[in-house]
Amino acid sequence: MSIRNRLTLQFGLLASLVLGIAAMAIYLLSADYRKDEFAQRMQSRGENTAKLFIQVEEVDENLLDIIERDNPIRLPEEEIIIFDSNDSIIYRTAGDYTAIPTAYFLDQVRAESLVSSELGKREMVSFLFTDKQDRFVVVVSAIDVYGRSKLSNLLQVLLSVMVLGMLSFFIAGRIYAERALNPIKQLVSEITGISVSNLDVRANEGNGQDELAQLAIAFNAMLVRLEAAFKVQRNFIANASHEMRTPLTAISGQLEVLQMKERTTEQYRSAVSSVLNDIHNLNLLANRLLLLAHAGTDAPEASFKPVRLDEILWEARADLCRAHPEYVVDVDFDVSLPDPESLTVNGSDVLLRTMVLNLMDNGCKYSEDHHVMVKVGVEEGYGRLIFADQGIGIAEEDRPHIFEPFFRAEGSRKRDGHGIGLSLVSRIVDLHKGSIQMASMVNKGTHFTVLLPLNKSVSI
Ligand code: ADP
Repeated sequence: MSIRNRLTLQFGLLASLVLGIAAMAIYLLSADYRKDEFAQRMQSRGENTAKLFIQVEEVDENLLDIIERDNPIRLPEEEIIIFDSNDSIIYRTAGDYTAIPTAYFLDQVRAESLVSSELGKREMVSFLFTDKQDRFVVVVSAIDVYGRSKLSNLLQVLLSVMVLGMLSFFIAGRIYAERALNPIKQLVSEITGISVSNLDVRANEGNGQDELAQLAIAFNAMLVRLEAAFKVQRNFIANASHEMRTPLTAISGQLEVLQMKERTTEQYRSAVSSVLNDIHNLNLLANRLLLLAHAGTDAPEASFKPVRLDEILWEARADLCRAHPEYVVDVDFDVSLPDPESLTVNGSDVLLRTMVLNLMDNGCKYSEDHHVMVKVGVEEGYGRLIFADQGIGIAEEDRPHIFEPFFRAEGSRKRDGHGIGLSLVSRIVDLHKGSIQMASMVNKGTHFTVLLPLNKSVSI
């Protein structure tokens, strides 16, 4: 069922329920009032008749009959019977409508003073009438023709009002639901028109206050994030293609030049070594892109296992120094460290080694002395690695961008690299629920501080 129909139904049912309860209360109260009022009228008729018959000497049965016959306040089909204390009928109006009450009933009236009863449409009031001479019981019965007809009229009016009321509640509910949902309909049609090709379009935020405006604002904020993500992705693909094209163009250029004429063995050797270097570069780039894609998914988390940071450091250092014998990597363990076991984190050894290798590599690559110092320590449940170099540093305007893929600062272009290392490092740190901070001064050096949560079951 659509929300519009549900709202209409709920509104209609609720309003009808309230109306129904009100109508029922009106009817029941009116019925009760009619009954009480008729009983009072019967009682006063009985009292008047009894007073005339018992207390006025001159009035006998015949005279009373004549008086009563033309009495304008006589009730419809009225019958009055008066009993003395011996249960004998001393007076009875003409009519014979009711059966003679039993002695038991008359005793009950004497005990309770007033008894009301009903037999079909006929209502009866019996009460005790005391006089100096005796204790009489007066029984009055009649049919409340006018009262009942008024009541049934009221019932008809109430039922008609109910039907009309329900109808108008459902119509009003429909209009109300339509109006309430119109802005949603509009929002849906606006959102439906947004696709990858027009991510810059925004939904109407209305008054900026109500819930729908909040929804539109939240949706627009999501569009901003999506647009940025798409832009990053587009740039990423453009940058990756560019980075790949450069060595490929260099390779094909060198091979074409070689092909032009006969070369010496020495020239061939130098060309092959240069091509190999480019291929090596391409390979490195492809590997890093692959790692970046891998680290960008949640999949590696499933393969996490306890990894010792100190072992990762030694392995990365060995790999780096093998590839660049001129690099110097010093590792300094904090004296307060309890034992190397405590440096265990939960993670992927491949990714963590890549992270450490990149930071060590950058430290050496961007300093004249090719020297990086790695300080290892522990800080409130985190393993802390500081990579400190005394190199070229990073200019203030470049600092916010160094973790973006393919970003390279102006001064670092003459050194090898693709600008992927630090974005890879940052993703690996995120994946391991750690943090990374950078502090740098141009021509003085750079510090990268990485904090990784230690594996609690192993750490002390
Ligand atoms: P790459 O080193 O391949 O260019 P990275 O992503 O590792 O790519 O680094 C991005 C940029 O950040 C580098 O181009 C360089 O400008 C800057 N950078 C990174 N590490 C350092 C460092 N230790 N010293 C100075 N600049 C650095």
